[in-house]
Amino acid sequence: MPVITAARIPRQPTGQLPTEIDLTTLPDVLQQVIETALEGARNAPDNDEYFRHMATAILAAGIHTRHGELARCACDCMCDVLYDADDPDGHLFHNGTREIPQCPACADDHRGTTF
Ligand SMILES: [Zn+2]
Ligand SMILES: [Zn+2]
Repeated sequence: MPVITAARIPRQPTGQLPTEIDLTTLPDVLQQVIETALEGARNAPDNDEYFRHMATAILAAGIHTRHGELARCACDCMCDVLYDADDPDGHLFHNGTREIPQCPACADDHRGTTF
């Protein structure tokens, strides 16, 4: 059995932030900051405001994003993972008119299909 698969390093060195994080593992105060920022982004009147809120959410989540956008998994399994919206492994599908972002793990495990 190969040894290299051993363990995931819990804390990565600076500059190598993870691209996703389980919201429920964060301290309550950070979860609150993120909820508020995402709510602000949803209601942002323009792009500047939108990305300002996104930046706050991303900073609080402590993840790396390619283009400054964070997505929250809205999958039925309620996994509540925050991830880089531009992660190619993430997935977005539609349930009627509802847009449902899926984190990479969910997209891999139980990928949703638009209908
Ligand atoms: Zn998920
Ligand atoms: Zn899921």
